[in-house]
Amino acid sequence: MSPPTRVAIIGAGIGGLTLARILQLRNSPNLSFAIYESDSDAAACGALAGLLDLKFESGEQAMKDAGLHTEFLKLSRRVGAHMRILDKSGKIHHEETDTGSWFCNPQIDRRQLRSLILDSLEPGTVQWGHEATLMRRDPATGKGIFDIIVGADGAWSRVRPLVCDAKPIYSGITLLETKIDMAQNPQFGPLVGEGTMLALGDGKGVLAQHDSGGMIMLHSALRVPEEWATTSAEKVGSMLEHFEGWDERIRDLIRAGQDLVVRPIYALPTDLAARSKIDNVVLLGDAAHVMSFGEGVNLAMADASDLAKTLISGKPLEKYEKRMRNRANRCAKESAANLEIFFGEDAAPAVAKMFRMPPGMAYLIKPSFYFSSFFFCVFSLGRLG
Ligand SMILES: Cc1cc2nc3c(=O)[nH]c(=O)nc-3n(C[C@H](O)[C@H](O)[C@H](O)COP(=O)(O)OP(=O)(O)OC[C@H]3O[C@@H](n4cnc5c(N)ncnc54)[C@H](O)[C@@H]3O)c2cc1C
Repeated sequence: MSPPTRVAIIGAGIGGLTLARILQLRNSPNLSFAIYESDSDAAACGALAGLLDLKFESGEQAMKDAGLHTEFLKLSRRVGAHMRILDKSGKIHHEETDTGSWFCNPQIDRRQLRSLILDSLEPGTVQWGHEATLMRRDPATGKGIFDIIVGADGAWSRVRPLVCDAKPIYSGITLLETKIDMAQNPQFGPLVGEGTMLALGDGKGVLAQHDSGGMIMLHSALRVPEEWATTSAEKVGSMLEHFEGWDERIRDLIRAGQDLVVRPIYALPTDLAARSKIDNVVLLGDAAHVMSFGEGVNLAMADASDLAKTLISGKPLEKYEKRMRNRANRCAKESAANLEIFFGEDAAPAVAKMFRMPPGMAYLIKPSFYFSSFFFCVFSLGRLG
């Protein structure tokens, strides 16, 4: 019997962990794997804030493949079913309440999703504090000590340069992420409502969402030069200057935010071709296709699920690559187009119109078009606090 194929997974984000979980669950005798993560331990992840919508056909399906769907449903909420879209004057252009439709993507705190998958792994599976620095092939064999390397190390992947030259490009939009404790600030209840509130106009936006712990996650978005993230000294004050003339209740939301994180948004080109020949290095998730406002976590999980099945079945990695790349390029193009609508001049009525489709149409489109999935999807991660 030939020795098992040795797989190294670089990065224990949602994508890498989902892959590890499915491989461990299937327990294939033909495979052994290790997962290396630069964070020092499970508590040290800097980008754990925020809420994630999982889509039926991708993120939720991956949870099923990982045998964790029931647990996921217990933790997830339907807050995405409550949604209101405002313009800069505070006028409501669209409002939706929970009608019980199952076409609402369940939403979960990122921290909870990561813990759920992490806790399902056998103890010691993740090698914490292992940062991949310089990745290179053995000049003699073209390989390393592993048979297959999986780059699941996010937007600034160290594995990606082994397979392509593409680098993430600044999208022109930067987000300021803050939190508001609702117990101390009940006055924001009527403005935000029970789920998601989105205020749009002048090429800017403010998104407020409730998390599971009584906090509002707030993302204020601006078109600013990339340097704004590092050069603007007082971020909230600077943000407020950009929102001059907006409804004071929306400005008060920005003012009240705590635990500030600045997130410039980056994206890889939307037309990367699938490699027709793969030796031993593959990418998944943001490492492969970080995009501005898309379905990042859903794509990462779908990639993980597809890659796990490919590795277990021993099918050629090119099959995985083609499927992953087609799916990602399709989403990346939608994502770039949506960015223009959401950050256009008269965005509130335009976005409201998208949500006011005839019922049949809306049902068809919503699952792949639900707002918070694409307002956020890439944040890519300058952890610039
Ligand atoms: C606040 C927020 C909200 C979001 N909302 C949504 C949403 O609603 N829907 C959606 O679909 N997407 C959303 N996204 C995007 C989504 O989170 C990402 O696309 C997704 O996390 C990508 O997963 P990943 O596993 O590929 O990469 P990551 O989550 O970035 O994980 C990469 C991991 O690799 C580790 N790593 C990095 N470099 C190295 C190295 N050199 N060596 C070892 N380890 C390394 C990192 O520490 C990290 O743990 C959101 C993002 C944010 C920040």
